[in-house]
Amino acid sequence: MSTFRERLYPDHGQYLEVQSVLHTGRTEFQDVLVFENQTFGKVLVLDGVVQLTERDNHIYHEMVAHVPLMAHGNAKHVLIVGGGDGGTLRQVLKHPVESVTMVELDPGVVEISRRYLPDISHGAFDDPRLTLIYGDGAQFLATAGRQFDVIIIDSTDPIGPGGQLFTDAFYDDCRKALGEGGVVSIQSGCPFYRGNEVDAAVARLGERFGAAKAFLAPVPTYANGHLALMVAGPKDNFIPALETLQSTFDSIRLQTRFYSPQVHHAAFVMVPRFDDTSHDDQREVPTVGAVPDWITRSVDRRKVVSRASR
Ligand code: SAM
Repeated sequence: MSTFRERLYPDHGQYLEVQSVLHTGRTEFQDVLVFENQTFGKVLVLDGVVQLTERDNHIYHEMVAHVPLMAHGNAKHVLIVGGGDGGTLRQVLKHPVESVTMVELDPGVVEISRRYLPDISHGAFDDPRLTLIYGDGAQFLATAGRQFDVIIIDSTDPIGPGGQLFTDAFYDDCRKALGEGGVVSIQSGCPFYRGNEVDAAVARLGERFGAAKAFLAPVPTYANGHLALMVAGPKDNFIPALETLQSTFDSIRLQTRFYSPQVHHAAFVMVPRFDDTSHDDQREVPTVGAVPDWITRSVDRRKVVSRASR
């Protein structure tokens, strides 16, 4: 059995055992790998970075979509930038929206996701409310004009084709494309490693949009298990009263596995220690001392299982 390793930080990463490889290849824009893991099910990887797994994608997709949509409360026209797997689209379409425009750079991601991960989009690509545009989200927004109630940036990391979706120019175009009371949601990164970066990103968005806040989504297969996302817009309308959220949730009969009005509120509570930067990767660590052999030997899975079940 082979092992997939993801290393987003110099001294820390994650590995997933590969039960079977379903697809491997390169599109015009990026390397794509789809494999099956015992615990997480099918896993989609772009340029070596985990995008989603069958087991935990609903947490990310529900939070990136329902937090801005429920904050807005009456979104009719929604834009998704990226999101080629269709998971965010599926969540957005649970709301009584009139139109969803999705601008995805890479047709290959959509094709591969529909083929190998059909349960992620669950028929969403066939919804008549969808207009799917293949192209660069930054270019699209540069000329889009004011037309969206909610914009969801569901992109890859700032390295590679997603890079342009993290610039001030792009954020300014998002702001211009938002209607009154509009909300944009954007993923930020790992608050455990880079708490100060989340604060800086929120301050930057606040300056450009008028108001911004960070919220958290616990996604086990994203580095460190906590993903920080941000909402921004002209008004600080991101945390409606619990009764308001519950009334909207009930009236549209929102079916979710993770998101709830209570989770919406809780997600905006930042753990104070997340901004501790005393252990950042700039500090000098002396490289002395050998690791004992019994630690580096590979672990026999059967022994681990029997030990845990005793
Ligand atoms: N949130 C997920 C993550 O970070 O793991 C992202 C999942 S989704 C598959 C990311 C999508 O963004 C990819 O399909 C990629 O092709 C698309 N993307 C990257 N840069 C883009 C751009 N400039 N315009 C539109 N889509 C873009």
